[in-house]
Amino acid sequence: MRIVILGPPGAGKGTQASRLADHLGIPHIATGDIFRQVAAEETELGRRLRATMDAGELVPDEFTNELVKDRLAKSDASNGFILDGYPRNVDQAAALDEALDDLGTKLSHAIKFMVRGDDIVRRLSGRRICLECGAVYHMETHPPQENEKCDHDGTSLVRREDDMEDTILRRLEVYGEQTRPLYDFYRERGKLVEMDGLGSEEEVFERLLGILGH
Ligand code: AMP
Repeated sequence: MRIVILGPPGAGKGTQASRLADHLGIPHIATGDIFRQVAAEETELGRRLRATMDAGELVPDEFTNELVKDRLAKSDASNGFILDGYPRNVDQAAALDEALDDLGTKLSHAIKFMVRGDDIVRRLSGRRICLECGAVYHMETHPPQENEKCDHDGTSLVRREDDMEDTILRRLEVYGEQTRPLYDFYRERGKLVEMDGLGSEEEVFERLLGILGH
């Protein structure tokens, strides 16, 4: 299966995409995770990425498209993949179609996670991540066992720089202007599946499997 997960920031895409990828035995490709890794490096590119991400803006398309194209051409993605956080605008969606065409394949589903606006801010401001292993927690709905420490490796959890209130608002604007048009893009191509993103992690995962017939 070749799946794109769409939805506003904080819709739970990353958590579900990662579970689904494990379940299906295909890679979870999250452009945000890849960029965060590069941004953590003290290089010129790292600093530039950090500035873009901390401002809630999108990384330039040319760089992003190239990165995803290379990743999709790797052998572990030949039987399928879950893309999370990409595409983010219509130009990226067109570039993805082209990259898949070149690989002689096409997308199976674009799944839209639907959540309410007030839920989004609550989810983003409570989110904490482990920079060591990438685990994601939420202080209300999925807290770590020990105060602000990762369950897997004990690393102190941090709030993503772009989960601060000002940046959340900018990210939501960018989402509305650039990412929302993707729903029509995929609807017109018969790929869009809309799914209620509310409920516990387990409930949403069961719903997702139901949609995919698994
Ligand atoms: P995310 O973890 O998906 O919320 O992404 C975090 C940040 O990484 C975004 O706010 C952007 O700055 C950048 N980013 C992630 N994916 C993309 C993309 N497909 N295009 C451009 N920028 C992206």
